[in-house]
Amino acid sequence: MNPYDYQLFVIGGGSGGVRAARIASSLGARVAIAESYRYGGTCVIRGCVPKKLLVYAAHFAEDFADANGFGWSVPPVEFSWPRLIAAKDKEISRLSARYEDNLVGSNVITLYGTARVVDAHTVEINGQRITTEHILIATGGTPFLPQIPGIEHAITSNEVFDLPDLPSRVLIVGGGYIAVEFAGILHGLGAQVTLCYRGDQVLRGFDEDIRAHLQAEMVKKGITVLLHQDVAQLERLPDGSLSVGFASSGDSSLAVDAVLYATGRIPNTQGLGLDDIGVAIDRSGGVKVDAYGKTNIDSIHAVGDVTHRIALTPVAIREGVALAKTLFGPTPIATDLTTVPSAVFSQPPVGTVGLTEEQALSQCSEIDVYTSIFKNMRHSLSGRDERTLMKLIVDSASQRVLGAHMVGSDAPEIIQGLAIAIHMGATKADFDETVALHPSAAEEFVTMRDKISKKRSNDLSSFSRKSSDKT
Ligand code: FAD
Repeated sequence: MNPYDYQLFVIGGGSGGVRAARIASSLGARVAIAESYRYGGTCVIRGCVPKKLLVYAAHFAEDFADANGFGWSVPPVEFSWPRLIAAKDKEISRLSARYEDNLVGSNVITLYGTARVVDAHTVEINGQRITTEHILIATGGTPFLPQIPGIEHAITSNEVFDLPDLPSRVLIVGGGYIAVEFAGILHGLGAQVTLCYRGDQVLRGFDEDIRAHLQAEMVKKGITVLLHQDVAQLERLPDGSLSVGFASSGDSSLAVDAVLYATGRIPNTQGLGLDDIGVAIDRSGGVKVDAYGKTNIDSIHAVGDVTHRIALTPVAIREGVALAKTLFGPTPIATDLTTVPSAVFSQPPVGTVGLTEEQALSQCSEIDVYTSIFKNMRHSLSGRDERTLMKLIVDSASQRVLGAHMVGSDAPEIIQGLAIAIHMGATKADFDETVALHPSAAEEFVTMRDKISKKRSNDLSSFSRKSSDKT
């Protein structure tokens, strides 16, 4: 007879925690889960889902404008931010309730409150101590804000979804995916957007060509991008607007109505009691785990953003499933995170899977790079000056496709399919032998024939590209 109240106590009802709880319960474990805010976690409440709904909303601006080239006369349109936010809130509430219902339906005990770890087998919530054989830390992450004067006037992705009105002028600080996504959303909905980033190009860590291409497209759309720049201070003016003082341009300042910080996220470990009981934390604040999600204490585990590795919902879910199966299934399962596709729902969006050109060159002595830049067929009539970029990275020796990258309409949808091929080890010949689907942008991925071969010592920036119109 198990002496504990539960076999698994999960702290955090987000993507990773909820999935781990449900799978563990389905494997026969007695499971409880604690959530301090709303079931569904970051992804459902203030991440992927509401963000994507806002991306859809923002797209209509270009759809209305492009329609004219296809014979439509679009009457003057109006946009209501409060109506969008109310519709979004309704959908988020529906989804959150479904998460909770699914937990209850899976025989998981759901609790509300902030939980903390007391010892290797005890958690405390709402003043009550509960014993458990295993503890899963799935508390996610939270936006990081630098401590500059006036930072209390800034908002983060947590607050932007609940603003009462759409600000007319917005400064977005940061160059990561959340920053560029909100630049596209707010610009598309009608705000005047400036993005300020201290690096040399947005989307650090992505393929260099993808970074440059997206940035150029953002600028073409009318987003102001300030590079090598940081904010020194924020000041609230009597009229309610904000004055932004920059770090490296003398006295220059910018007046805006909102400042959105998207300068990274930090793991949610504060107040959890992990330090007190000696759970190892890495230098970035993430809970250290092995390949099976176990910390240095045998009964304490962690999955998802709190481990500060790949902060994506499907990764947190996979880790949650693997952890539950490891603890309560027949064999331990390590999460395979070799080919994790990812998207940036910018405008235009980015889809990417596998190695960047720079990563491939650090692993292979020679690679073949196939690049294509073209105007999507839609824009032959819309008149919009937007280019799609596609890129394949191939290991010259084995001819295995190591990476596929795209900036352009539907990139996330297209890359998800390619991720299967790349995960299975497809070669360039497999791509070439695949019959094209015409007319589509995606067919370019199976018709690219012009390659540039690069040896490890080559200058990464010196290659030309094919440029054409897509008809
Ligand atoms: P979370 O989903 O953050 O869940 C953690 C939960 O723990 C939270 O509900 C929190 O309230 C709760 N909690 C914290 N401390 C305690 C405590 N002490 N006691 C009880 N409960 C506690 N990922 C994608 O894959 N695609 C996207 O398009 C995407 N877009 C994003 C957009 C934004 C703006 C943001 C912020 C994130 C986005 N992400 C996206 C990332 C994704 O949301 C996270 O990777 C994912 O939610 C991580 O899941 P998790 O279970 O680790 O943590």
